[in-house]
Amino acid sequence: MSETTKFLLAEREIPESWYNLAADLPSPPPPPLDPATGRPLDPATLAPLFPHALIAQEMASERWIPIPEEVRSVYRLWRPTPLLRARNLEQRLGTPAHIYYKYEGVSPTGSHKPNTAVAQAFYNRAEGVRRLVTETGAGQWGSSLAFAGAMFGLEVQVFMVRVSYQQKPYRKALMETYGARCLPSPSPETAAGRRFLAEDPDHPGSLGIAISEAVEVAAQNPDAKYALGSVLNHVLLHQTVIGLEAMRQMEMAGEWPDVLVGCTGGGSNFAGLVFPFLGRSLREGRRLRVVAAEPAACPSLTRGVYAWDFGDSAGTTPLMKMHTLGSGFVPPGFHAGGLRYHGMAPMVSHLRELGLIEAVALGQRECFEAGVLFARSEGIVPAPEATHAVRAAIREAEAAREAREPRVILFNLCGHGHFDMQAYADFFAGRLEDRELTAEELARSLASLPRLR
Ligand SMILES: *Cc1c(COP(=O)(O)O)cnc(C)c1O
Repeated sequence: MSETTKFLLAEREIPESWYNLAADLPSPPPPPLDPATGRPLDPATLAPLFPHALIAQEMASERWIPIPEEVRSVYRLWRPTPLLRARNLEQRLGTPAHIYYKYEGVSPTGSHKPNTAVAQAFYNRAEGVRRLVTETGAGQWGSSLAFAGAMFGLEVQVFMVRVSYQQKPYRKALMETYGARCLPSPSPETAAGRRFLAEDPDHPGSLGIAISEAVEVAAQNPDAKYALGSVLNHVLLHQTVIGLEAMRQMEMAGEWPDVLVGCTGGGSNFAGLVFPFLGRSLREGRRLRVVAAEPAACPSLTRGVYAWDFGDSAGTTPLMKMHTLGSGFVPPGFHAGGLRYHGMAPMVSHLRELGLIEAVALGQRECFEAGVLFARSEGIVPAPEATHAVRAAIREAEAAREAREPRVILFNLCGHGHFDMQAYADFFAGRLEDRELTAEELARSLASLPRLR
C-alpha cells in the first residue's frame, strides 16, 4: 500500500466562469439546422423548450461565461472535487506512468451530472419556469435534475427508459426522494409514447424515445421546459468546471498530462475534463493527446458516420451534425446505461473531424475487469460508464510500460457505481456478454438517416 496523494482546492477556488472551447477552435462546428427548411436554426424556435439564458449559451462565442453566485453556492455542497494519483494502481500495473484521476462521484447523486443540472434549474427558475421535463436512461440524469429541482423549488418530471425503470428501482426511489415524478417510457401520456406502445406494448424504450416524450410535454405546456443532460453546447460548457479545477490541481501536483481520457455517452463528462486543457494547448501550440472511450455495443465515434441527424427517435429535434449510428438505433442491452445514446455531441464530433481527439471502442467485460482492479487498488467502485475510462487509462499505462517511457495520464472518474452493483454481480456471475454491433445492423440503422433537401 503506497501513500495516498490527493490534491484539494479551497472552496473559494471553485471556478468563477465556465470555459467555452468555441473561442479557441480553428473553425467553428456547423450550427444546428431546421429540419423543415434545411437552413440554420433560428434560435427563437428553441424558446418553447429552453430559457433564453441557455439558448444564448448554446450559441455563445466568448471564451469565459460567468457562473452565477447562486449556482456556485450549490456547487459548494460538493465542489471542488478531489484529484488523486492512483499510486496503487500504478504499482499493480508495474508502469512508469503516473495515473491521475478527477473524482466526480462525490456529488449528491454520485456523478458529474449535477454540474449542469444545477445551472439549468437556476436559469429556468430565474425566467419563471415552474416545471422541468426530461428523459433518463440509467437514472443518473433524472436523479441529478430531481436534486437540482429540489434546490431551486421546481417540479421535475422524468421519462425513464422502461428497461432501466424495471432494472433500477433505487434510481426511481432517489428521484422521488428529491420530489420528482418518474414514469416509464414509452408511456401512454404522450402521442410519441402511444405510437411506440402501439407497435409493441412491452417496448423496452430507448433514450431517443424518452427524449421525444419529454420534448412533447415541454412544448405543449407553457409553464414547463425541457432539460437535456448531455450533447448540447451549454451542457458541455457547464461541465468545464471539472477541467478548470483539474488544471489547477495538476499544477499543485507539479505535473502536466500527456494524455487525457474520458468515457463518452453524449460527450459531456469527457468535454468537461478535456475542453479547458485542449483550449490551453491550442492557444499555446502545445501537443496533447486526448482519448474518448466508448462501448463497442454503441460505438458512435469509432463506427458511426459524421452526418446530420435528429437527437431523438421521433424526429422532433433540430438536425445536428454529429457522429451517429442513426436516430432509430436501439442499442443491445449492456450495463453502461449512460453510454447508450445513438449520437455524439456536435462539439466532440467536430474535434474528431479536426483530428484533435482519438477514440477507442471497448467491450463491457474488459471494462468491468478494469473497474474491479481499480476498486481493489484505489477503493472506489467506478460506475459502469466510468469503467470505460479506467480501461482506456490502463491501456495507456500499459503502453507506457511496454515503451519504457514516463507518461502522465489523467482520466475522469465521472461517477461511482453504488447504484449499479447488480451490474457487478452479473459480471462476477459470468452473465455479461460482449455484443459487437454487426455491419448489417449498422447499415440498417444508418439507412434511416434524414436526407437534406
Ligand atoms: C450520464 C453518464 C455518462 C454519459 O454521459 P456523458 O454526457 O457522455 O458524460 C457517463 N458516466 C456517468 C457516470 C453518467 O452518469
